[in-house]
Amino acid sequence: MAAEPVTIPARLGKAARLDAGQSLKLTNTHGSQVVDTWAFVAADKSEFMSMEHSRVAIGGVFPHVGDTMVTNRREPILTLLEDSSPGIHDTLIAACDRYRYEMLGCEGHHDSCTDNLAAALGEMGMTPPETPSPWNMWMNIPVGADGSVSFEAPVSSPGDYVTLRAERDIVIVFSCCPQDMIPINGADCVPKECHFKILN
Ligand SMILES: [Zn+2]
Repeated sequence: MAAEPVTIPARLGKAARLDAGQSLKLTNTHGSQVVDTWAFVAADKSEFMSMEHSRVAIGGVFPHVGDTMVTNRREPILTLLEDSSPGIHDTLIAACDRYRYEMLGCEGHHDSCTDNLAAALGEMGMTPPETPSPWNMWMNIPVGADGSVSFEAPVSSPGDYVTLRAERDIVIVFSCCPQDMIPINGADCVPKECHFKILN
């Protein structure tokens, strides 16, 4: 039976279990929010979705509809079934962490995707084996012909969604990125909530 939508609060994370074959719809409710996404094999969290291995599997740095992301053991784990947005999602940039915010001049505590991953998994009685590079949904990191990258605001719209299918029994984790010191979550630099729904 289809579950009710789950809120990923602004600046925070949320985890969910998916059985192999189950799909999940992740909605960019306000349109401008980057959502860091991780997937861990439920039975062995040392196997997880890996961006560096997935870029080999999909033959590029931008996943497209129909592409299947793989684990650090090169096994299929998550397939992008649908994407109502322009398809700009990042696979290159590390999750934000306290060190990133310190470098940007933040004094004192700042929420981070790295902490959100640990907290969301903690709610399920798990600890992350490390912070794998996330699949950064809607994060707009153009790659220049010279290999340069830049940090731009998302090009998605309110209500845009992606549908993901689990290829293994997994724990999936989302973080509504709390980055508010550069306009990666929109020009207003205000992180916002998103939602997901397990479809079947
Ligand atoms: Zn972040």
